[in-house]
Amino acid sequence: MTTNKKYVYHFNEGSKEMRDLLGGKGANLAEMTRAALPVPPGFTITTEACNQYYNDGKRISDSLIQDVDAALAKLEQDTGKSFGNSNNPLLVSVRSGSVHSMPGMMDTILNLGLNDETVVGLANLTNNPRFAFDSYRRFIQMFSNVVLGIDSYLFEEVISDLKERQGFSFDPELTAEHWQEVIGQFKQIVRKETKHDFPQDPKQQLYQSIEAVFASWNNQRAIIYRRLHKISDTLGTAVNVQLMVFGNMGEDSGTGVAFTRNPSTGEMELYGEFLLNAQGEDVVAGIRTPEPISRLQKVMPEVYEQFVRISSQLEKHYQDLQDIEFTVERGKLFMLQTRNGKRTAAAAVKVAVQMVHEGLIDRNTALLRVDPDQLNQLLHRRIDERVNLEVLVKGLPASPGAATGKVVFDADEAEALAKKGEKVILVRPETTPEDIHGIIASEAILTSRGGMTSHAAVVARGMGKACICGCEGIKIDLQKKEFRVGEVLVREGNTISIDGSLGTVMLGEVPLVDPELTPEFIELLSWADEVRELSVRTNADTPEDARKARDFGAEGIGLCRTEHMFMAPDRVPIVRDMIMSESIEERQDALAQLLPMQQNDFYHIFKEMQGLPVTIRLLDPPLHEFLPNLEELLLEVDRLRRSENKDLIELRTKEDILRKVRSLHEMNPMLGHRGCRLGIVNPEIYAMQVEAIFNAAFILLEEGIVTEPEIMIPLVGHVNELSLLREMVMQTYERVRKNLSGELNFTVGTMIEIPRAALTADQIAEYADFFSYGTNDLTQTTFGYSRDDAEGKFLQYYLDHKVLPENPFVVIDREGVGKLIETGVKLGRAVKPDLKTGICGEHGGEKSSIEFCYLKGLNYVSCSPFRVPLARLAAAQATIKHGKRGKVN
Ligand code: ADP
Ligand code: MG
Ligand code: MG
Repeated sequence: MTTNKKYVYHFNEGSKEMRDLLGGKGANLAEMTRAALPVPPGFTITTEACNQYYNDGKRISDSLIQDVDAALAKLEQDTGKSFGNSNNPLLVSVRSGSVHSMPGMMDTILNLGLNDETVVGLANLTNNPRFAFDSYRRFIQMFSNVVLGIDSYLFEEVISDLKERQGFSFDPELTAEHWQEVIGQFKQIVRKETKHDFPQDPKQQLYQSIEAVFASWNNQRAIIYRRLHKISDTLGTAVNVQLMVFGNMGEDSGTGVAFTRNPSTGEMELYGEFLLNAQGEDVVAGIRTPEPISRLQKVMPEVYEQFVRISSQLEKHYQDLQDIEFTVERGKLFMLQTRNGKRTAAAAVKVAVQMVHEGLIDRNTALLRVDPDQLNQLLHRRIDERVNLEVLVKGLPASPGAATGKVVFDADEAEALAKKGEKVILVRPETTPEDIHGIIASEAILTSRGGMTSHAAVVARGMGKACICGCEGIKIDLQKKEFRVGEVLVREGNTISIDGSLGTVMLGEVPLVDPELTPEFIELLSWADEVRELSVRTNADTPEDARKARDFGAEGIGLCRTEHMFMAPDRVPIVRDMIMSESIEERQDALAQLLPMQQNDFYHIFKEMQGLPVTIRLLDPPLHEFLPNLEELLLEVDRLRRSENKDLIELRTKEDILRKVRSLHEMNPMLGHRGCRLGIVNPEIYAMQVEAIFNAAFILLEEGIVTEPEIMIPLVGHVNELSLLREMVMQTYERVRKNLSGELNFTVGTMIEIPRAALTADQIAEYADFFSYGTNDLTQTTFGYSRDDAEGKFLQYYLDHKVLPENPFVVIDREGVGKLIETGVKLGRAVKPDLKTGICGEHGGEKSSIEFCYLKGLNYVSCSPFRVPLARLAAAQATIKHGKRGKVN
């Protein structure tokens, strides 16, 4: 098939704007050529040609061959060299390059154009036969591996055998004659493996290489890489054909890689490595250890000066940190690649802010430069990135952060050791409310069972502690106080380290660094605050979390959960009494003990927030969660029954608890007796909580701090549920206020986490002052997934096979869950225009979900304290990307 499309561009015909067509490498080579930088000449075959190759049933069209021949002829003319000419051979590299840089694709082929004749020419021309034959054998090796698919190990074997026979340790010890011998054997391998001779015609070599690059677009590595990074499969790759320059021609030659600023700290300094007398791939192959770029300054001061000048020119031109490849051939500098350099979060922040100060970019550009996801790295204690770690085993990354400590297997032991000043990591099959004191005492939690919403995970995230769950590779023996990973045995008291952001467990100690809000980070966030229109609140259950969140810039608490307050060790017995009580009087008795404690909780949280809004959610989980685990209880009762001298009182107590646990047992607790359903059937619990809220607010009022509590009713599905409980709140207020002076401003709202609530939001809004979307549960109830089961069983399969595009528990599902959110906001505001809306699920700290909330007119997002800075940045990015939205209500 013939088309008139232009499939081949010389470097001087393209520009950096043509990335889609020329790929990143090609576009930047063209851009550097236009800027008159010393780039070896060449041409780029477009991504469209790649797609055409697939459309034609994996065939290179004749018209493309014609275009390539023409481009080649021009390259020959420009360089005075020609393909296959043994007096002055043209040698090129063939380099793949798609729009996004993709390490999964084809390896570069160097020295293409060499054959049995041109290699002799090259030897004569350079007066360096050793160099020439070494280059030829490298070419055969690369071409055979990359294009012909022959295992490179077969070639390596030839070289190592020869070295052994000669008693050599390093490649450079081999002479021209040795390399000739190697080449002979290489050619035999090719003949044996392919039944053909190694192609001698440079044009054949080139066509085959181009085809191999096209084909590599769909190799397994590339496909996996694209899936991982969400790159489209239809983009195709470009092919760059470029005149070879040689860094391996002697002590006045070399090759290197450099960043215009330090990519790990952002410091303003040329940062890179250089290898004297070497070709590009030697740096990567680690044959010799490269030296710092400053070495170049010593051995070739003029070349260094020129390189510094060009680097800074490139950085100014691209207005970003550049990652540059270069080669020096006999004292002459050549630029081989430039691209925006990858960097750590710390460097990203520093570089963006400094470039604003240098006048290189404006503030909005700086705000868009930093990826909110990456900021996680900066906001938790983390493992020092500069060390290489050996990972023992991996689990689910349940709560970010890193920690080192001694292994303990029970909560009491954890507490006891922590009191002695030891750092400990609690390792359990899973945790229950009874372990809470152990969790508090530990640096981090590691469990072999349970998912991202298991008790350990939720509690750890709330506390900002590192946690790994579902780490099934560890086999715990609680009796022997040890765990095993395969052959490795870890005993109580041994030190391990964990990285909760990656889910990795390491043996021994690893160096940690503290989270930091550097001056640049603070400045960047202040710019974000000027731009953004979406408020950022935090999810905080304790005064400590509240303070941390305010330090990070939270403008209120969007979700204060009260269940953890019930799990404090000194309260668990009272909470149990409350649950076990047979009569309302007994229950009131227990509640009366809990009231001052709750009041104290709220007092301190309100005080910490100094008048900023605080949304308190009334008790949500089912009551059985505060009782011991059924299986453990059964074992315990069984043990007591069998024991010789029975403690009858203890046995009776345990049997009572067992009866209660059984009576509260639910087939599916997620859909069971919890949230407002509990508040309606057992109103005294909610009444106690509401009273505690009002009491605390009145006390603060007296102290001169005005608080406006926002009381939130969980799990409402029908308007009647809310109207009943709103009534209860109002009655409680009247009761509390009677004995006190002054009035409180407070609001009553609901969590929207059941699809029915979103669909009937107009009815519900009549009784709600605000909606807070609990997007975790809303996702569970919309999909009908229990998150733990989904993530433990089938979700990964779904993601791998593209059944779902994303994990909906991480990134909000805009089409389903999102539609419910949007519907709820619309219906609600139609009835109550000033209805305040926000989200408080984990999505509140995820950039794409934050963008969605901005687009749908929500007032705020609420996320864990550590994510507040990230959310401020993401909210600013939403405004910059989509424009100001103005007042939403
Ligand atoms: P990657 O995408 O893996 O960086 P490249 O296409 O940039 O692959 O090439 C790999 C190595 O080969 C680099 O070190 C590069 O400098 C070197 N190289 C590529 N083309 C040439 C050339 N024409 N002359 C000399 N070295 C080259
Ligand atoms: Mg490169
Ligand atoms: Mg919920």
